[in-house]
Amino acid sequence: MKHNTHIYLAIKGIEFLYEGLSNLHYAKSKKKAASTTISKRRREGKILQRMLMNYRDVISEASWAPDDILNDKSQYHTFKLFTERDFPHSSSFAKEIHKNSYYRASGGGGLPYKVDHLARVISDMDKLRRYNDRCSMKQIMYQYLMISHYVVDAHVPMHCDLRDDPPSANDTKKPRNGKYYSDSLHGHIEQLWEDAVNPIAIKEGIIEAKRKDDDCPPNELSKQIRFNVTNNAHCDEIKPYLVSNDGLMNYMIDLCIQTKERALLLFPINDPTNWNQQLFPEMTREIFAQIISNLISVWIWMWGE
Ligand SMILES: [Zn+2]
Repeated sequence: MKHNTHIYLAIKGIEFLYEGLSNLHYAKSKKKAASTTISKRRREGKILQRMLMNYRDVISEASWAPDDILNDKSQYHTFKLFTERDFPHSSSFAKEIHKNSYYRASGGGGLPYKVDHLARVISDMDKLRRYNDRCSMKQIMYQYLMISHYVVDAHVPMHCDLRDDPPSANDTKKPRNGKYYSDSLHGHIEQLWEDAVNPIAIKEGIIEAKRKDDDCPPNELSKQIRFNVTNNAHCDEIKPYLVSNDGLMNYMIDLCIQTKERALLLFPINDPTNWNQQLFPEMTREIFAQIISNLISVWIWMWGE
């Protein structure tokens, strides 16, 4: 995702923190959480929402820092999977196998591991703050906003799809028994999202107009990325999950698998560069709603007891 999309989504995660938690579900059973759990988490969520809003001025930097300052894109922003469907008889290229049929090739990024580890570090920072004032709330909230970057990236179909990375001529670590898609598609699709987000984010005061082009009216896709917390139907689309203390890594791996499945729909196996533009608007809505939901899921995993 591009910069303004990251800012926009972090803000939406904060905006929906309280209302979104009324639709909290258990990650394991997929059932709606008990009403006492929901009330407790909403109370906690309201405090976190207020806290994050206090540090609103760092959202732009923190949500973008992994791409800009840390620059750990190839290591931790992706989880490049392939399957027997897109690369038949290629399991020997698998470095890891997930759920029996999702392979990760060498150099395919460790996004779920990063989120799990970083989330643990952040909750430890909060424990240290309470014990000996070692970390400030300002530092901790910065990290909450920074982890949003990795969570958002896990929902981008190209980030969980090996077909986005065609092998160079002498690369022997990637399967060839299948089709990769054009390397310009990744940037193109992220730009479509950015162009849809910009007019809405400017109108809502989330980002400031800086360029001549920033003043353009919402486009066709803009309605798919628009989420308003005072709109009941929009609130119903947000569905965060309560993940167990030891369940975050698997939750993130499952999410990347789901993203890979979306990639298989968006970039058809037989002709992936001829991507599915009919499906794209509907899929955009689904992806953005899931991102807002999962920002809340990961934040409350760190924030709650
Ligand atoms: Zn990134």
